[in-house]
Amino acid sequence: MNDILPDEAALWEELEETLRSWLQSYGYRNMRTPLLEPTGLFRRAIGEATDIVEKEMYSFVDELNGEALTLRPEATASTVRAAIQHNLLYGSPQRLYYLGPMYRHERPQKGRYRQFHQVGAEALGYAGPDVDAELLLMCARLWGDLGLDDIKLQLNSIGSPEERLKHRAELVQYLQAHEDELDADAKRRMHTNPLRVLDSKNPLMQPLIESAPRLLDHLGEASLAHFEGVQQVLKDVGIPYSINPRMVRGLDYYNLTVFEWVTDRLGAQGTVCGGGRYDGLFEQIGGKPTPACGFAMGLERLLALMQETRALQAAAQCEVYVVHQGGAADRMAFRVAEELRNHGLSVMQHCGGGSFKSQMKKADASGAVLAVILGEDEAANDEASVKHLRVERGQVRVARASLPDTVTRLLFTDEEQEPVSELPKRSLT
Ligand code: ATP
Ligand code: MG
Repeated sequence: MNDILPDEAALWEELEETLRSWLQSYGYRNMRTPLLEPTGLFRRAIGEATDIVEKEMYSFVDELNGEALTLRPEATASTVRAAIQHNLLYGSPQRLYYLGPMYRHERPQKGRYRQFHQVGAEALGYAGPDVDAELLLMCARLWGDLGLDDIKLQLNSIGSPEERLKHRAELVQYLQAHEDELDADAKRRMHTNPLRVLDSKNPLMQPLIESAPRLLDHLGEASLAHFEGVQQVLKDVGIPYSINPRMVRGLDYYNLTVFEWVTDRLGAQGTVCGGGRYDGLFEQIGGKPTPACGFAMGLERLLALMQETRALQAAAQCEVYVVHQGGAADRMAFRVAEELRNHGLSVMQHCGGGSFKSQMKKADASGAVLAVILGEDEAANDEASVKHLRVERGQVRVARASLPDTVTRLLFTDEEQEPVSELPKRSLT
């Protein structure tokens, strides 16, 4: 679990802002659910024989009332739980998004953390395939907005529960025939949830998985038509994709469309975004049958890709730094700083005293563009001096009433302009 320090947090805020306006541009509205949910919700939604439920959940018993609780490992289950609980789909489907921390007790490694962040979109009450395709277009647009050009789409369809049942028999037969090549997880899951074996991360299992019977070969007409429908839009809009018949995704609630966006720039942790259709989930956790589709993407992985393409820059702490010295000036500083903030400026007022020289050093280190200087002389005349900290332009002195205008002009106008005041300059000592 990581601390995100201020220099890095600036990039997080920038990314979050980009994400929110991107989601809003497709009509998605924000949904905020608690970080804790009853453990049973995730067991039922994600499925018992999955990596998450078997070994990745932070679960505990609330000592005060004996309730079994879990820190959310993902947010689709919570979103659907809330939609059912508040009857959110009454009358119309909903396009919703969430953004926040998730918790999984995995082996920590680069690109994989125990507290990580996801942004996710959920289209609830839509049967697709139009909305499935739209979710994929959204992702493609985001990669463009973030300047990431090597994230590739892998697509599959895992059909309906009935189709999976037919495939299951064949798969179990195949796995039994190769039982001595299976790892412990696979041996166990072969009987509880054989499809999960295909989701194994064990490299030794990959050749076996490669030649396992394909679910895609068991799809009926309706499932194939849905899959075709999604692909037709991708072709129309020109989004390249490849079909990966082995992809089943790590959660049990999916059906029909499943997809992952993958890059080879992050080593083994190359999946940036995963999603798909989950038409059975509402019923599974006690709601009315409701078709739905969505995706989740990992913010740490997005940021890692963004950081590769541009260096991390320490952001300025403020636009204006107010330095002040002398009893009257010290008191005036509060009013001056507040007045500047009234004009929408970000202002850091020096705290802790010290000489003008040491205060100016702090002003410089803050990254501010301008220093407002208040000495005894300024205070006595109800004036203020302004010094540009980033270009050599001398210093101007203005009446306090016109300070906000002067500061705004200096901040936002062409650097070549003449100094804005004829008042005599004051030297710093
Ligand atoms: P993986 O195959 O990498 O374990 P997953 O299938 O478990 O991924 P999902 O549950 O689909 O992942 O989550 C969607 C996205 O969230 C992933 O594609 C990834 O970008 C991100 N993610 C998942 N787990 C972690 C983690 N422990 N640390 C950082 N990001 C994660
Ligand atoms: Mg995982």
